[in-house]
Amino acid sequence: MMNVPLTVGSLLERAERFFPKKQVISRTHSRIHRLTYKEVGERTRRLMSALKTLGIRKGERAGTLAWNHHRHLEVYFAAPGIGAVLHTINMRLSPEHIIYIINHAEDKVLFIDEDIVPLIERIADKLPTVKAYVIMTDQPEMPETTLQPVYSYEQLLKAGNPDEQFITDIGENEPAGMCYTSATTGNPKGVIYSHRGIVLHSYALGLADTAALSESDVAMAVVPMFHVNAWGVPFAAAWFGTTQVMPGPQFTPKLLAEFIEQEKVTITAGVPTIWLGLMRELEEASYDISSLRAVLCGGSAAPRGMIQTFEQKFNVPFLHAYGMTETSPLATVSRLKSYQSNLSEEEKLDQRAKQGLLVPGLEMKIVGAHGEVAWDGKEMGELLIRGPWIANEYYKDERTNEAFKDGWLYTGDVATVDEEGVIKLVDRTKDLIKSGGEWISSVDLENALMAHEAVFEASVVAVPDAEWQERPVACVVLKDHFKGQVEKEELLQFLAPQFAKWWLPDDVVFIEEIPKTSVGKFLKRALREQLKGHYAEKN
Ligand code: AMP
Repeated sequence: MMNVPLTVGSLLERAERFFPKKQVISRTHSRIHRLTYKEVGERTRRLMSALKTLGIRKGERAGTLAWNHHRHLEVYFAAPGIGAVLHTINMRLSPEHIIYIINHAEDKVLFIDEDIVPLIERIADKLPTVKAYVIMTDQPEMPETTLQPVYSYEQLLKAGNPDEQFITDIGENEPAGMCYTSATTGNPKGVIYSHRGIVLHSYALGLADTAALSESDVAMAVVPMFHVNAWGVPFAAAWFGTTQVMPGPQFTPKLLAEFIEQEKVTITAGVPTIWLGLMRELEEASYDISSLRAVLCGGSAAPRGMIQTFEQKFNVPFLHAYGMTETSPLATVSRLKSYQSNLSEEEKLDQRAKQGLLVPGLEMKIVGAHGEVAWDGKEMGELLIRGPWIANEYYKDERTNEAFKDGWLYTGDVATVDEEGVIKLVDRTKDLIKSGGEWISSVDLENALMAHEAVFEASVVAVPDAEWQERPVACVVLKDHFKGQVEKEELLQFLAPQFAKWWLPDDVVFIEEIPKTSVGKFLKRALREQLKGHYAEKN
């Protein structure tokens, strides 16, 4: 067979050639933009020539601090399009971590949304590698800024060459993108995505048994473009000629619901927190969201109760998927097998709330204390994954040795696998509750609590215990109209029939909000701290 390199530029070239009329609909600070792939392609080519003029060379990193919109999409293709590396930066991290990330990646240029400019101004004197700042704004005038040297994105495009060509003399294993993932302790860790990895991952998103992304879809990635390339949706969607809806800096549940209704979004992707918010909005106001064929939900466990509400109340199918920054991210998708249609509705829901089956192209094993676990849905072990879109190291980081061993990625996720090969994540290794030498899954308890009609969100964490080492405590946020109406005992009674007695939380603490990470996941570290304070006060 021909040894044709798989390159990121070819994805957008296909959109330009075969789907020039299809649209990218993008909401920025001031308005909604409608561009065709022809226009996005031309603007990307102009940007590629501008990057070269700025002196960005093959292999160098172009950082972005931006929301989900068409300009960010253009950088997604322009940086790898000249052989440079797209480095998406999570602007919600602490300034210290942002400084670390930019310096560690040695970014040469930073593309910044106008609302992020003040943040970068405050740290600019600590960014010695950055040679140019490019501000992305709708306004004809650039905002006042102390950043130097600074360029206007749109001015750069104006001066750029619309016929610039995507790089072809580049190996498919060369880096095209990079993204840092937060570590439990210490600095974030960098993951490099190769051209080949991104292209193969895009194929994976198009498979009928995964997300089945296709030309006929209208795809809205709510997951930020700074978080694992918005799960790869922008790359795959361009390749397939899928209409893209990009929600921009404001993605309140109301705006998302409106966007889904107006643009007839068929598939959307994001973390459970986003869907909990949307669920609340849909319960309060009326929207026509009948266009949705799938809500792709991952990043944390999709609560069973939420899947049920979306499907039964709003008639919107849920697709639960699992992955991580190191896996590009798509690793498993939860769907029923064709011969499982005879399962009861409850059993179907149980299975769909699991993380699902490994995506074709990847390999996995689950390793417990005594080697590979039995496929019995009970024995727990750490999930190991390998495959062509799985990272093989952390960028210039000693922690590579902890997570990448013998050709496998050690995910740090504890899972079981059943006879069907369906995996169920039990916890992060560090979040498992170790009570009297046995393990309790915080995720199982959380999901069960969130199925209670009064519970909006719930998170279960370990508290130190003299007798048992650790015991579970549930932190619960009640829905507004149930506040003050539900007691701890009621929730414990609700859990009791579902779990062994020793799994039941020792306490239920009602709180106003569950602290979240910068990408919307429960921040258990902060919760454990809060609980310490709570119990200190009580004693
Ligand atoms: P990140 O690299 O920030 O995307 O985080 C990856 C981690 O999120 C994984 O290692 C899991 O612990 C967690 N995660 C991702 N998807 C799921 C899911 N569907 N269910 C439970 N946990 C998940």
